Amino acid sequence: MDDLQRGLSEFAKDLERTTVSAYPLCDLCPPHQPKEARFDGKTKFNGSWGYMCKQHFKDFGVGLGLGKGQELLLTKEAEDESFLK
Ligand SMILES: [Zn+2]
Repeated sequence: MDDLQRGLSEFAKDLERTTVSAYPLCDLCPPHQPKEARFDGKTKFNGSWGYMCKQHFKDFGVGLGLGKGQELLLTKEAEDESFLK
């Protein structure tokens, strides 16, 4: 893989994740028992966007990537990961 390709794949990866300081709550969980959202993305309902927990992302998300959705990572996790590289 040359540098340009590597750069592009890193860029594509960036489109699939975003960092947050704390997980927001899932928009699709019942309000009385919300779970932490791990994804921010488009839903199958009507193309509207929302925060989704893992289960709801699996059931109602359309995937990751530009125009689809992003995985939420805690800033600390992202830092730990880049530290390993
Ligand atoms: Zn949920």
